[in-house]
Amino acid sequence: MSHPLKKRAVFLDRDGTINRETGYLHRVEDLHMFPGVGEAIRRLRDAGYLVVVVSNQSGIARGMFGIGEVNEIHDAINSHLEKFGTKVDAYYFCPHHPQGKIPEYSMDCDCRKPKSGMFLQAEKELNIDMKRSFAVGDRIRDLEGPVSLGVRGILVLTGYGTEEFQQREEWQIEPVGVFRDFPSSVTFILAEKNKKALKIFNPYRLKRRNF
Ligand SMILES: [Mg+2]
Ligand SMILES: [Zn+2]
Repeated sequence: MSHPLKKRAVFLDRDGTINRETGYLHRVEDLHMFPGVGEAIRRLRDAGYLVVVVSNQSGIARGMFGIGEVNEIHDAINSHLEKFGTKVDAYYFCPHHPQGKIPEYSMDCDCRKPKSGMFLQAEKELNIDMKRSFAVGDRIRDLEGPVSLGVRGILVLTGYGTEEFQQREEWQIEPVGVFRDFPSSVTFILAEKNKKALKIFNPYRLKRRNF
């Protein structure tokens, strides 16, 4: 049984999922949000989902940029979303890489995707009901951690998504859906919620369908 106070969430990868994949993005002028993302996030939050961005930022371990630059990008994403009357509820990122240049970040950590560390941390800190949540990413490695925790994974074909889809024979997990982009997955996510709500709150209508 789901705990009634637990919240649903949609975990979003960042680069290639909500903004253009430019490779180690760290300058605000290189941030290009995909069209429809502001409205999509607003719809999810209006429906009661927390929106949590989870990303690997190994550029920090590689000495390409610092935590300050990552925060600047997240501030710029927030300013963009403000125009749509919405926001991201929380950002998690992994600064590590096993073969980095910066000693304090060069390690085989538990948070770098496909590992599940950041998702476990979010589950705990934000009181998330993983079984009623979704993860959206342009790589299967974005989905492996959350799917192992009971979250439903959705692959999008922006960013690396098309290449990833061509290698689907090698996938170790099964996404519940593959969509052209993140905004077009939102209707699917919300429809699922309504279906569940109908089952719980309107058994009469379900019964009538049998006649
Ligand atoms: Mg990505
Ligand atoms: Zn890490």
